[in-house]
Amino acid sequence: MKTLRFWILSLICFTMFGIIVSTLTSSYYVTKKNLIENSLEQNRVYAMKLAQMTDEVFLNMQSNLEARKSDVVKNIKNPKTVTGILEQLKISGKNFNSLSVINDLGIAIATTPNLGLVGNKITSTGVKEALARKEPFISKPYYAQTGRLLILITTPLFGDSGEYLGMLNGTVYLEEDNFIHNILAEHYSKDGSYVYVVDRDGFLIYHPDKTRIGESVKSNLVVRNLIEEKSGTLQIDNTRGINFLAGYTYIEKSRWGVVSQTPFNSAIKPLSEIMFTIFSFSLPFILIFIVVAFYISNKLAAPLRKLAIYTLTDKDDQESILDIPIWYFEAKQLTETINNYTKRQEETVDNMKILSVTDPLTGLKNRRYGDFLIDELMNQNNGFSLIMIDIDHFKNVNDKFGHIAGDEVLKFTATILTDLCVDQEECIRFGGEEFIIILPRKNMQEAYILGERIRKTVEESIPPIDNKLTISLGVGEYNSGETLMQVVNRIDRALYEAKTNGRNKIVIAK
Ligand code: GH3
Ligand code: MG
Ligand code: MG
Repeated sequence: MKTLRFWILSLICFTMFGIIVSTLTSSYYVTKKNLIENSLEQNRVYAMKLAQMTDEVFLNMQSNLEARKSDVVKNIKNPKTVTGILEQLKISGKNFNSLSVINDLGIAIATTPNLGLVGNKITSTGVKEALARKEPFISKPYYAQTGRLLILITTPLFGDSGEYLGMLNGTVYLEEDNFIHNILAEHYSKDGSYVYVVDRDGFLIYHPDKTRIGESVKSNLVVRNLIEEKSGTLQIDNTRGINFLAGYTYIEKSRWGVVSQTPFNSAIKPLSEIMFTIFSFSLPFILIFIVVAFYISNKLAAPLRKLAIYTLTDKDDQESILDIPIWYFEAKQLTETINNYTKRQEETVDNMKILSVTDPLTGLKNRRYGDFLIDELMNQNNGFSLIMIDIDHFKNVNDKFGHIAGDEVLKFTATILTDLCVDQEECIRFGGEEFIIILPRKNMQEAYILGERIRKTVEESIPPIDNKLTISLGVGEYNSGETLMQVVNRIDRALYEAKTNGRNKIVIAK
């Protein structure tokens, strides 16, 4: 059977385990949530910054074109000068991969660098759209006559009287080094985070994997949100089934979308380390707690364990109940109850012991005790003497004065005996109206003197009946080797002799 200490310890350990598990679990989920939210937010802010930067570059490019528009119009008849202006623009604008002036019929007047297109009619989608719209805009990505994937930043050219003369264009080659690469490529990170840009139709304009530029990624939920001109954050699987935490921003100027994303597994990578740190921080506390729990369980169980041992073992060879540490209410109550119960038990046993050897009428010791005492004296080889006393004509007392008066006479005689036996002698009611006095370590002489004093005292006493009271006595010393029966019979014969010799006598046993 398990001990109380075991159960207390189990309870404490169970509770502690529960607390640790729930703390670690909640820390795990809170930390994970934070890491995810942080990553999403970082990506959102990052995408927004990149979008702003991109927007600014576009704005800059457009204003560069706007600034040289009138120069181009003035020199429209002079392709050489126009080419010079374009070269200046390319150097100052930096971000253009190429520049061109195309007239109202779509024929290239000047380009830089020299693409071999001057004099040719340009039929690419961007140019066609620009001719049709006659307004500044940024084209969708498209494949130009040169086979390059590019975007067109264009502004229309009008003469002094408002006639349409053509347009001034800058291009950005998407598959080659361009300003977008310069802005975005350096942000490609080791943890698997990367940035990509899509156009208004969900085609990749920029991606760290250049081979994917031009690919449609419309199926991606983030891209669909960007097409709907939304910005925000999202946890999604990319087109290759890897879970990502993405932040995305729509760019108004070009109507592109910038997406910055971190693989989910990279974002929550610090989690195990954080959990380990939390656990290592709590470990010393756990250990201290276990030691304290051990100590407390011991202290709690100690009083009850000691009480259990106390009630089980022999009262003689055990520590006192007062030594049991009681420091809480229940232990105190239990100890007191057991203590009281034990005391009462002991008193009862003591009383029973006394009762079992006491004669209820006279209060003298009874025959059982007499036999025991003589037996003990014989075993100890201690010499002793005996006086046997029998009241004379006691039957007459009963007959004349009644049984109750007879009892009074018995009590009266017993009082005389106890009054005179003051030196270790033991007075015993042997039965009926017969008494024995045991005199340890006393010889015949001494016994005789006491017997004679008793006889005389009784003879001279005033008994509780209207009659004379006398006793007859037999006295003898124990001869070693005798049995109890032998010595009692011997003295009984002396008593009988005293009776037959006229009573109120003392006779020494032979
Ligand atoms: P003897 O001088 O020969 O001893 O005469 P006796 O009358 O004393 O004779 P015996 O010893 O035969 O009588 C004892 C009587 O004591 C018999 C019994 O009725 C009486 N007796 C014994 N025990 C008690 C008792 O407890 N109370 C009373 N009142 N009488 C008792
Ligand atoms: Mg008798
Ligand atoms: Mg008698």
